[in-house]
Amino acid sequence: MSENGKKTEYQKLEEKLSYSSKNIWKETDQKTRKAIFAWAEKYRNFLDTAKSERLTVNWIRDSARKRGYKDLYEQKSLKAGDTLYAVNRNKNIALIRLGTRPIEEGINFVVAHADAPRLDMKQIPLSEDTEIALMRSHYYGGIKKYQWLNIPLALVGVVITKDNKTVEITIGLSEDDPVFVIPDLLPHLSKKIQGNKKSTEFIEGETLNLVFGNIPVKDEKIKEKVKLAVLERLHKEYGIVEEDLISAELEAVPAVRSRDVGIDRSLVGGYGHDDRVSSFCAVMSHFDSTSNERTQIALIVDKEEIGSDGPTGAKSLFIFNAVGTVIEKTKKNCNDSFLRETMQNSLCISADVNAGINPMYKSVHDESNDSKISHGVVITKFTGSGGKYSANDADAELVGKLRWLFNKNGIFWQYGGMGKVDEGGGGTIAKHFSFYNTSVIDCGVPVIGMHSPYELISKADLYYSYQGYKVFFEQA
Ligand code: MN
Ligand code: MN
Repeated sequence: MSENGKKTEYQKLEEKLSYSSKNIWKETDQKTRKAIFAWAEKYRNFLDTAKSERLTVNWIRDSARKRGYKDLYEQKSLKAGDTLYAVNRNKNIALIRLGTRPIEEGINFVVAHADAPRLDMKQIPLSEDTEIALMRSHYYGGIKKYQWLNIPLALVGVVITKDNKTVEITIGLSEDDPVFVIPDLLPHLSKKIQGNKKSTEFIEGETLNLVFGNIPVKDEKIKEKVKLAVLERLHKEYGIVEEDLISAELEAVPAVRSRDVGIDRSLVGGYGHDDRVSSFCAVMSHFDSTSNERTQIALIVDKEEIGSDGPTGAKSLFIFNAVGTVIEKTKKNCNDSFLRETMQNSLCISADVNAGINPMYKSVHDESNDSKISHGVVITKFTGSGGKYSANDADAELVGKLRWLFNKNGIFWQYGGMGKVDEGGGGTIAKHFSFYNTSVIDCGVPVIGMHSPYELISKADLYYSYQGYKVFFEQA
């Protein structure tokens, strides 16, 4: 400012010519803040329910049905304006709203993943040692093993019984449920076995065992008395036997509820922001979008954290086939080139979180290229690591289009990469979805403490991620 309080010519020029992202809290009025805080409440309710990819898909399917979405595969014919859902193996869901323009002109996709790092139970998980029953795990995704010790864990998932019936298991999410804990070694005795090792080595995968029970059966003829007592209890409560666990998917996830974080309640702490925050924003923006000329699809995939392989990962043809079904039911005739043309003319946001700058570890970040919490939804041109290997590098044209759309609609956004050039990196579903020759760009909220049992996001970024995806659905 000059002495009389007016901006100088060069201050005005700097504003016009320089880029800097803006702190949303500084830029918004009371009314917007109220909307931001109310939105976070909705999200927290979802996050505390959607503790696994299956539970996320259940929540989305139920919510879609309530809003009048119909099962794609049960429809005989389709027309513009129809809203539909398609579920794949209870782990993927696509929400579809048919546009008024011919579908081969392209679809607006927002794709997020609902799997999060966790501890899967082994297929033969139960054992007994020192009169303690243990559930042995095999970790899923990129975790720091030490973060999972001595925290309350819940067990969620399904068991397929010998009669080929599905039994759903959820233990530890209700207040009065028991929880499970992996005990760490006390500091008094850990000097040699842990203290002198690297952080990646001092906890071994085989020690990630949940304490599962301690009361034995009273029969001296039985060798593993606690294990049998645990099996007896499982059989009574769920009708399952040990062999049934071979056909089970049981996940140990943090048994903690999301909370407001900070004296000003600016943040949300919780398990699984990566990437249930993007799943929530993708799905809610689909629900709330008005119809567009182009068809809109929110797609929730699985297995992103372990490379997107398998029939429920982004590399699967599920969505390609589902779009084929949509065309078939709309036009009564779907040939291969028609389907390819549709995918090729489509646009896709890979809705995935970004690594927000952690003030305690700034050295790994490039502060001028990385994202800051509360500065808005993050646009990321490329992912990958070490010289852009394994990257989806979105075209400048696509980055420009998204930036233009966000700016003209008052969406707070920022640019964000993934740390310093040589520091590491990561991938998203973007590179897999681009296989269809679809234009794909990464866009999502910044997270601090990513892949930990209790990640942090800003409520302001959460709100503008939802708003941003909505603009993309309606106007791209
Ligand atoms: Mn993610
Ligand atoms: Mn992740």
